[in-house]
Amino acid sequence: MISIPEALATVLGAVRLRPAEQVGLSDALGRVLAADVMVPFDVPPFANSQMDGFAVRTADLAGASASAPRRLRVRGALAAGSSTAEPVGAGEALRIMTGAPIPPGSDAVVRLEDTRPGPDSATVEVLHAPAVDEFIRPAGEDLRKGERVLESGRILGPADLGLLASMGRPSVEVRVAPRVAILSTGDEIMPLGSPLGPGQIYNSNAYALAAAVRMAGGVPVVAPIVRDRPSLVREAFLGAAESDVVLSTGGVSVGDHDHVRPIMAEIGLEQRFWRVAQKPGKPIAFAQAGARLYFGLPGNPVSSLVCFFLYVAPALRRSLGRRDVFPARTEVTMATTVATARDLTELVRCRLRRDGEVTMAEPTGTQSSGALRSLALADALVLSLPGVDRLREGERYPALLLDATAEADPFA
Ligand code: AMP
Ligand code: MG
Repeated sequence: MISIPEALATVLGAVRLRPAEQVGLSDALGRVLAADVMVPFDVPPFANSQMDGFAVRTADLAGASASAPRRLRVRGALAAGSSTAEPVGAGEALRIMTGAPIPPGSDAVVRLEDTRPGPDSATVEVLHAPAVDEFIRPAGEDLRKGERVLESGRILGPADLGLLASMGRPSVEVRVAPRVAILSTGDEIMPLGSPLGPGQIYNSNAYALAAAVRMAGGVPVVAPIVRDRPSLVREAFLGAAESDVVLSTGGVSVGDHDHVRPIMAEIGLEQRFWRVAQKPGKPIAFAQAGARLYFGLPGNPVSSLVCFFLYVAPALRRSLGRRDVFPARTEVTMATTVATARDLTELVRCRLRRDGEVTMAEPTGTQSSGALRSLALADALVLSLPGVDRLREGERYPALLLDATAEADPFA
């Protein structure tokens, strides 16, 4: 049996970087950038007004105030989208709207609120002495031509897509998402919508894992339920060969109907490990065929998801070129004492809460590997390392956050 860090290192060592593809911005949300993005021109491309008001010359307005207004001649108006080459002359102002380019000759904008109409429509009275560049957004305020604005490996979010659009880029280079086959094995497993007969349960693993695959940047391909017959398990594994990663659940222990490992060997996969000194999730099997990775996940719903979290998600993230491939680690203080398995690393499902400076961890209920609720309620897995037979109330332990990733190996 190998340790969690050894298993994780073996998995990550087997991962190959996905190829890149060009996708339209509308399809790029959540995808991982495959190349650094350089800025092709200053954004905004021209200095423009930050306010609705008047483009002015500061030299005309020294000392202007509500009690000492300065009258300027209004030469016209400039809306966003239009421009003028005619300079604002001494004693002149140009009515200007937000986003309109600053006309030559002007070195500040006075807000409409700091003005009042003059005695005739051709004049304005300014009640404020602006500083040079006041309410002017300079060219390149957001992005400077030639700089690197987004780094390869980044997950594209809404603001990133806006940035790319502001640079006029209709498409972006991202990693091709890995296709992840999900094979649910078990004679007792029923699809949703069928009534349950005696001894039968619903296929919860396929739904949980498909969602986890999506969150890690993969495309789930859910296969029909596989019954516990060697020929059917073989057929399912061979049928998944179009995928980049194959996940099976169930049938990987030492029961009479556990066919996954013999089939993995029979179809010529290179078996890398089976069984990791952890709880839940001990009977996980990992194999590969070239770049294709095969995870034989245990059938218990908590075990399969915890194994996904520990091994499959980091593998998917690494294949996408992300740097934050690991679960993020933190330190927590136990709120209650929990007995744990001494010979393994036990991962205890806990809810976290802040208590002043410390983070308290409270187990979320029965730690049975079949009890999914305790995982649904958990924020973190608190680690009870080998040699530890209880997590003691009031003592500090390392924990892995379920919803945060990090560049640092939490086991290093
Ligand atoms: P196995 O690893 O096949 O021995 O399964 C271990 C436990 O997980 C058994 O109680 C199974 O009924 C349960 N199980 C296996 N596959 C699934 C699944 N797809 N959805 C929910 N529970 C499952
Ligand atoms: Mg089974």
